Amino acid sequence: MREPVILALDQGTTSCRAICFDREGQVLGLAQREFAQHYPQPGWVEHDAQEIWETQLGVAREALQRCALPAAAVAAIGITNQRETVLFWDRRTGQPLTRAIVWQCRRTAGMCERLKAAGHEAAVRERTGLVLDAYFSGTKVAWLLEHTPGLREKARRGEACAGTIDSWLIFRLTGGTVHVTDPTNASRTMLFNLHTRAWDEDLLALLEVPRRALPDVRPSSAVYGKTPADLLGARIPVAGAAGDQQAALFGQACFASGLAKNTYGTGSFLLVHTGEKPAPSRHGLLTTMAATVGETPAYALEGSIFVTGAAIQWLRDGLRLIEDSADSERHAAGVPDTGGVYFVPAFVGLGAPHWDPYARGAILGLTRGTTRAHLIRAALEAIAYQSREVVEAAEQDAGIRMAELKVDGGAARNDFLMQLQADILDRPVIRPRVTETTALGAAYLAGLAVGYWGGLEEIGRNWRVDRRFEPRMEERERNALYAGWRRAVGRAAGWAAPG
Ligand code: ADP
Repeated sequence: MREPVILALDQGTTSCRAICFDREGQVLGLAQREFAQHYPQPGWVEHDAQEIWETQLGVAREALQRCALPAAAVAAIGITNQRETVLFWDRRTGQPLTRAIVWQCRRTAGMCERLKAAGHEAAVRERTGLVLDAYFSGTKVAWLLEHTPGLREKARRGEACAGTIDSWLIFRLTGGTVHVTDPTNASRTMLFNLHTRAWDEDLLALLEVPRRALPDVRPSSAVYGKTPADLLGARIPVAGAAGDQQAALFGQACFASGLAKNTYGTGSFLLVHTGEKPAPSRHGLLTTMAATVGETPAYALEGSIFVTGAAIQWLRDGLRLIEDSADSERHAAGVPDTGGVYFVPAFVGLGAPHWDPYARGAILGLTRGTTRAHLIRAALEAIAYQSREVVEAAEQDAGIRMAELKVDGGAARNDFLMQLQADILDRPVIRPRVTETTALGAAYLAGLAVGYWGGLEEIGRNWRVDRRFEPRMEERERNALYAGWRRAVGRAAGWAAPG
């Protein structure tokens, strides 16, 4: 009999991954596959939920095969997912009734403007911890109910299930028997009250969402149900779920107030654990649920930056300045500075802490001497500056000073960027050995629920440093660079505002 493992399903925006972890939190094997993105109109983004399910199941089977593991060796399945993306499906047949509207989709921007004009912004912020923005699921659910023939009646009769992707996968993994979500995913819907930790009746009424369509909210670490034996080859407990960023916070062993991680992917997401009470933000961050084990709630402040690694992707695919994202490191290190160039990658407006949907990308300070390397360096510097903005906002909101920052995500592999981040923040940046922290967090949540791990202390011991980057920039230089960034952001602000 093989040592049991935990299977983490990481359902991302562009791909599905499945990873087997052992007791030390080491990756035994993984499978990954991309799925289609649909852009039916400018600014709209959709996924086919059936395709997501089939892709996710496919990679789960493949991961087990690669590890040469029978399904019986899987002690539990944990799920982590792209957040805010939402769909409706048929409770009886389990078939999607709508496309999944993706978090990036801007189709409800107008609805959000109208809700703001009607004076609902303060209540949304106070109850949900979120800003009133099309990013979150609530207005997407309202849109689907309004635009899908017959859906509202089905939802009222309890025949249609609404859910974020965690909910959808749990439903399908349990053979259509369990309709639940976890608090971290619920807290991104704009329908969930952070204080009562329940669906908010007033917000449901405001957006005309029938309560019966929504999942029950269960802890992030709990046995929700079991897979039917014919799905993967054994009945496996589905025992944990958390949104990707909260899963990463958990996977980085940030279990206590003041501990923080920053994930550098397509965008960047800073999460700071703030303890058992929600910390309201006055500096443009979101208040959100953190994943927790047991009944005691945990909260976090979040700085959501929409475009960081995606700017490097744009240099690669849009401008063809580099062949591979990793080449950015070599080019940037080849020049002593950007020659005064700043790059504000506000391609889709700016998220935290600005929340300016009308900001647009800008490159400032160009001269005849500007080279490709300067531009590439400016794009990497922008990642570090944007992260400093949210770190400082979080410190002001939480009334703490972060001693250090744990990092993960694809772009955290860039040593030049991580050194720059330490310099711009003036504090150490620490990269763990296992950078698959999102999937690892989901594995931990599931494993804790079935007793695979004994407790937080045990999994905390799995966390090991790969490399620590110490700040070494002079204060004067740091201040001058950051002041320039602030001026550049000011120029990009409001660029595409109507009228
Ligand atoms: P996501 O999970 O958001 O899809 P990943 O964590 O896989 O993202 O990170 C991919 C992003 O990071 C891409 O936008 C890519 O351009 C960027 N990236 C990956 N490696 C590097 C690198 N070495 N230097 C800079 N950016 C990188």
